Amino acid sequence: MKHPDGFPAGNPGPKGSYPGSPSTPPPASAQFSNSSIPSEPLHALVEPGQAPAARPAQPASSESVASRPTPRSSVPSGFDDSTPLARELSEIGRRRQALAAEKSPLPSSPRVFTVANQKGGVGKTTTTVNLAAALARGGARVLVIDLDPQGNASTALGVEHRSDTPSVYDVIINDEPIAEILQKSPEFEALYCLPATIHLAGAEIELVSLVAREQRLRTSLDKFLAETTEPFHYVFIDCPPSLGLLTINAFVAAREVLIPIQCEYYALEGLSQLLNNIKLIERHLNPVLKVSTILLTMYDSRTNLANQVADDVRNHFPKEVLKTLIPRSVRISEAPSYGQSVISYDPSSPGSLSYLEAAAEIARRGAPE
Ligand code: ADP
Ligand code: MG
Repeated sequence: MKHPDGFPAGNPGPKGSYPGSPSTPPPASAQFSNSSIPSEPLHALVEPGQAPAARPAQPASSESVASRPTPRSSVPSGFDDSTPLARELSEIGRRRQALAAEKSPLPSSPRVFTVANQKGGVGKTTTTVNLAAALARGGARVLVIDLDPQGNASTALGVEHRSDTPSVYDVIINDEPIAEILQKSPEFEALYCLPATIHLAGAEIELVSLVAREQRLRTSLDKFLAETTEPFHYVFIDCPPSLGLLTINAFVAAREVLIPIQCEYYALEGLSQLLNNIKLIERHLNPVLKVSTILLTMYDSRTNLANQVADDVRNHFPKEVLKTLIPRSVRISEAPSYGQSVISYDPSSPGSLSYLEAAAEIARRGAPE
């Protein structure tokens, strides 16, 4: 008998490798044996001993100083770095300067990402919205497709999504063209959103009886991207926390999968199932689909657990994991209640800088071969 996540019976899966677990951790190879990603190290993205990229705080921010890793020694000579606060200020300054100096390249053809993880609350929507905002701020034209009936991405991007608003439901079920449904986000000049309304909750069932039910989003999106007069550089599809037909539509429409992983207990549980499903989609419905990016979210350097999860994920997916970690941050969680991304809500907060750095890393890496 096998564990539902593909682990052998009696093996609790990756959750067993963390403190508090009653059983012995399984060997690394057993944990991800179903992965569509090669498990051998390809090239390490993180130099040994390197500190996490997500770091210190903004002085005015309410975020806890203690939650951040010790900054690198980048303090200009003559600067009083004798206090933690001074060091943090200096580090924030260094990161802002580095970001200001970076000119992110734009892709020559649209990069379409599905942001997926069947677990809820791991940061899919937060990551979708803030990466999209960060890339739009850097000059890219970006479309966010909200494929979660809860419509959280639409809320965070400040676009209308009451039940009578034309939405992604009309695109998928009624074949309405995306160009007529999408809305411009007030956040940034070239940031657009295809909103989700509550009608999408029924789409999962309505799709079952439709022709080409797995391809419907892809057909609409391909047509839109080919016909639009001003080309888009990035499309992010925010998925619901399930592996149903809506998520399958997202996998079929995309070329890249971005998996946010929360640096918490149980973080890796279910990952094998997700990777297995992606492998099935790749084999039967979308041969170009690739897990290109893994982003560690809600990182809290004060806990050993967060560091252990981060190390584990990096060991298994050295090529896919971004160097940048997203810290647990009050500013990040507050921003949506103002209908904003953290990028516009508090641009120099550590959370905002981390999403800007993650976006720059994604742009620098480019699309997978
Ligand atoms: P998902 O879309 O995977 O369900 P969300 O992006 O909605 O997850 O995030 C779940 C909750 O965690 C939300 O309340 C969000 O504001 C909060 N959150 C996400 N990322 C962070 C972070 N880095 N720091 C603090 N809170 C976060
Ligand atoms: Mg969500």
